[in-house]
Amino acid sequence: MKVTEHISQAKGTVVSFEILPPLKGRGIDAIYNHLDPLMEHKPAFINVTYHRSEHIFKKRADGTFEKVIVRKRPGTEAICASIMNRYQVDTVPHLICGGFTLQDTEDALLTLNYLGIDNVLVLRGDAAKNETSFEPEPGGHSHAIDLLRQVVNLNHGMYLEEELKGPSGTKFCIGVAGYPEKHFEAPNMETDLMYLKDKVDAGAEYIVTQMFYDNSQFFAFEKNCRAAGIQVPIIPGLKPITTKKQLSVIPRTFHVDIPTELSNEILRCKDDKDVEKVGSEWLLAQSRELKASGVPVLHYYTLGKPNVVADVVGKL
Ligand SMILES: Cc1cc2nc3c(=O)[nH]c(=O)nc-3n(C[C@H](O)[C@H](O)[C@H](O)COP(=O)(O)OP(=O)(O)OC[C@H]3O[C@@H](n4cnc5c(N)ncnc54)[C@H](O)[C@@H]3O)c2cc1C
Repeated sequence: MKVTEHISQAKGTVVSFEILPPLKGRGIDAIYNHLDPLMEHKPAFINVTYHRSEHIFKKRADGTFEKVIVRKRPGTEAICASIMNRYQVDTVPHLICGGFTLQDTEDALLTLNYLGIDNVLVLRGDAAKNETSFEPEPGGHSHAIDLLRQVVNLNHGMYLEEELKGPSGTKFCIGVAGYPEKHFEAPNMETDLMYLKDKVDAGAEYIVTQMFYDNSQFFAFEKNCRAAGIQVPIIPGLKPITTKKQLSVIPRTFHVDIPTELSNEILRCKDDKDVEKVGSEWLLAQSRELKASGVPVLHYYTLGKPNVVADVVGKL
């Protein structure tokens, strides 16, 4: 079922969870162990992130370096299918521009279609670790909107090869990312919103936001989206803080602010067990307020901390 159908058929706010594929070498049980405590909360759908290959320099025996391509977290498409099969829940694979040619993208979409997956979250992806800014694959997509257009075309039966006989279209429900605190590369919020509206006008059916820790940022973003003519559902993304280290890692990685009240409380904690308690109380308060405001879905980034999220969702 499509994300938009889950939203339109729900009686109130539903929940969804986001997971990462396991590090290469760890089996699918890593995913099941992660999801088991979360599944009793009956998520409407589960997102699985996409991780591109990276170039690393491996030292040879003679002291010189060899450039090697590695993918630490492969398997997004197959993990989605395994989760659907095991838990009978819909999945939303993420699909990115980085590292994909148009042909790779079409093949990935067809694989997802054959697996019976109805949704995709389309993203640009960040710069690879060895790049200073995002570089598309030669001939690949530069922005999420270009990838989005390819999915929309495929939904209309438009393949890259024009001479196919009677091609059938796919039926993907397409989501995109939005940034309550602005995407870090955008010159200002207005320009970022303009590009977000372009994605919606091009066929995006809902928006999932970057995480935020101050609900007023989300409410302002929602208001600005509506004022800009963006009418699709906006799903808030939420992530618990569970360690002191995250006070610097989260702003650096995701370009979001942590409110002073929360950071002060965390700084006063004597260990990470205390931080987890503060972080989960904050997440619960955020979730309750967002739910009361009528958001369609509460989307949790569960990365490594499924029990914290399960506990919060259980108290909603
Ligand atoms: C909910 C969510 C899930 C994510 N999942 C993943 C994942 O699984 N894998 C992963 O690698 N990354 C993921 N990311 C990170 C994401 O890839 C990065 O934030 C990336 O830097 C931007 O992606 P985007 O889709 O928002 O890009 P875009 O929409 O392309 O926007 C990127 C920047 O370009 C600007 N822009 C947009 N369109 C244009 C245009 N036509 N011309 C000029 N400028 C333009 C925007 O204002 C913005 O500053 C996720 C992010 C979110 C919020």
